[in-house]
Amino acid sequence: MPELPEVETVVRTLRPNLMGRKIMRIEIRHEDVIHYPDAAAFVHRLQGRTIAELNRRGKYICITLDDGQLLSAHLRMTGRLLYADPKQELLPHTHVIMELSGGGQLRYADVRRFGGFWLLEKNEEDTVTGMQHLGIEPLSPGFDAEYLISRLGRRACPVKNGILDQCVIAGLGNIYADETLFAARVRPDRLCRSLTEAEWRRIAEAIPPILEAAIANRGTTFSDFLDGTGREGENVAFLKAYGRYGQPCKACGAVMEKTRIGGRGTCFCPCCQK
Ligand SMILES: [Zn+2]
Repeated sequence: MPELPEVETVVRTLRPNLMGRKIMRIEIRHEDVIHYPDAAAFVHRLQGRTIAELNRRGKYICITLDDGQLLSAHLRMTGRLLYADPKQELLPHTHVIMELSGGGQLRYADVRRFGGFWLLEKNEEDTVTGMQHLGIEPLSPGFDAEYLISRLGRRACPVKNGILDQCVIAGLGNIYADETLFAARVRPDRLCRSLTEAEWRRIAEAIPPILEAAIANRGTTFSDFLDGTGREGENVAFLKAYGRYGQPCKACGAVMEKTRIGGRGTCFCPCCQK
C-alpha cells in the first residue's frame, strides 16, 4: 500500500506533467472508483477545468482546479495514478482516463478498486474524503515527541497501532512504522502507555529522516507501487526491518522476527528492539 513517501513521489512525478493542463474529456470505465459526487456530476464539473496545483496530505493526492474545486485521490491498496502518452498501452484495470490539453492522459488503474476520487466544490465542507480527520504531517515543524506523548502517551494499544493511526500521524503505514520502531529500538508490541519519554523522543526523531530518505529514493516498490510516470521506486534495498523476517538484523546480526499486530505483519529485531 502506498504510504507518505510513495504518494509524495507520485505527486512530484505528476506535477510537471499536469500543471496548467486542461481536462478536455473524461472516460469513466468503472464508476466504483468515483466516490463523490456521482459519476455524471464528476465528469460535468471537471471537464474544461485547468489543473492549478498538485499537493499531498497524508496518503491523499490533492489536485486543485482553476475554479477552486478540489479533486482528491487515494490509492488504497493497488491504485495507480499515471500520466501517459495516449499511444502507451493501458494498464490492466484502468478505470478512469482524463484527456489533457497538449495530448497527454491522466489514468487511474486499480485492481481491487478500493481507491478512487472525490470532487469537492470550492469551500465545500469536507465530510466525505476522510482527510478531515487526519493528524499532523510528520514532516511539518510541529511534529515532535511532545505531540506524540500528548496524543498516544496514555493509550493501551501497541505502539505500532498508535503510530499507524492516521488521526495522529498522517501518512505513516506498515512499511515505515516497522522502519521507525527498528530505528527507535522499540518493540512494536509494547503498549503506548509503557513507553518512556526518551523512547517517544527516539520515535519522533526517527520518522522524518526515514520518510525523507524514502522520498529521495522515490518510494518503496515491494509489489505494486509505481510513480506517476510508471517507474518503480528504489527504496526497498534500504529497508532495515519491513519484510526482513528470517534475515539477519542489519545492526546486530540476530535473526529478524515476524509477528502480527492489529492484523498487520510486523518485522522486528528481538535483540535491538526492547
Ligand atoms: Zn538487531
